[in-house]
Amino acid sequence: MTDVRREVPRTDVVLADPRLVAATGRLGRDRVKAAVLEAQGLARAGRLAPTAVSDAAVGMLPERASSLRPVLNATGIVLHTNLGRAPLTAAAVEAMAAASAYVDVEYDVTTGGRATRGRGTLAALLEAVPAAEAALVVNNGAAALVLTTTALAADREVVVSRGELVEIGDGFRLPDLIASTGARLREVGTTNRTSLSDYADAVGADTGCILKVHPSNFRVEGFTSSVDVADLSRLGVPVVADVGSGLLHPDSLLPDEPDVTTALTGGATVVTCSGDKLLGGPQAGLVFGSAAAVETVRRHPLARAVRVDKTTLAALEATLRGPKTLVQQSIRADPAALKMRAERLAVAVGGDVVPSEGAVGGGGAPGLTLPGWAVALPASYAERLRRGTPCVVGRVVRDRCLLDLRCIPESDDRRLQDAVLACMS
Ligand SMILES: *Cc1c(COP(=O)(O)O)cnc(C)c1O
Repeated sequence: MTDVRREVPRTDVVLADPRLVAATGRLGRDRVKAAVLEAQGLARAGRLAPTAVSDAAVGMLPERASSLRPVLNATGIVLHTNLGRAPLTAAAVEAMAAASAYVDVEYDVTTGGRATRGRGTLAALLEAVPAAEAALVVNNGAAALVLTTTALAADREVVVSRGELVEIGDGFRLPDLIASTGARLREVGTTNRTSLSDYADAVGADTGCILKVHPSNFRVEGFTSSVDVADLSRLGVPVVADVGSGLLHPDSLLPDEPDVTTALTGGATVVTCSGDKLLGGPQAGLVFGSAAAVETVRRHPLARAVRVDKTTLAALEATLRGPKTLVQQSIRADPAALKMRAERLAVAVGGDVVPSEGAVGGGGAPGLTLPGWAVALPASYAERLRRGTPCVVGRVVRDRCLLDLRCIPESDDRRLQDAVLACMS
């Protein structure tokens, strides 16, 4: 009797397969060995040909050690929170990779002593926003806001309009966030209208700051009024403006989107925003303002708990100093070029080329649509495309799956086409 078990290749022989040697570099020896042992077990049980052990082990292993799955974003929504908001430029990715080793993030190579953490990034921020005397980088926009209001108004009042008490997503509400560290909220005005006198009546000895929040994920229309930063800044207390999306200067394409520079020149003491929305960088929270106020924020004990790491600092600096961001490119994509690319895709995979309304998404420019084009396929494709490799996420509108090329770099058109063809066969 021939014993199939004797034909099962030895573990060290299988592990020498070049594909498994490469996988060991990516995934570590334990993980690769476990796959080999599992494949050998299948072979011993007669469920796998002994000659197929290496192939089976290779097939069991993931491409990389992280389970995060890269996605081709064919939704037409530029800042899709569930898809990780801003995609980074190659320049930012490169800077991040370089910074992931030992770096002089807080070290002065000339003196061999301590240096200001992230000083290159801070310099880039101040160059980008000359209206700011100082800047600080924290973990995200919510951290920037809570740290700033805590530092300026702990145990005192934060005066804020009722129309600006927003929920930023997944059940997190700004009022709860601000109150969580001890500042008290003093709500003024009504949901749709708040006047300067509402603020003036509320401001007193107990006021830590006035907070002006940009309602970035919804729009109130009709009978509305609000007070701008310039008027608030004349009430004699610090004004904190949370502009949200991280636009540093006014942008004619996004006329309703507040920007950091206008808020500062209007008289805001501190302006906060996110790094991974319209700024197009890594997840971060930015704090801009007067030297004294930013120093107060920086020295607050909570600042240490929301500090960013070296790779974030690197990616942020490269975003500010590097080439045009992918977010900018997607928002400004030429509709005629999008149509041509959609036509090319439709020729290859079938489907109709239809107009498609893209959006900024992710808490930026609500109500603004970005006119473009998409390839329309039957809705049943949506799930197959999501489950494919690469994973493609389209937008289902009524009974069709739209593939909008706005957020897909042109260099990925071929990969998208192949992914669609693969799920057709
Ligand atoms: C997005 C947003 C936040 C939260 O910022 P994160 O970076 O998501 O933490 C806070 N305020 C406003 C106005 C926003 O738009």
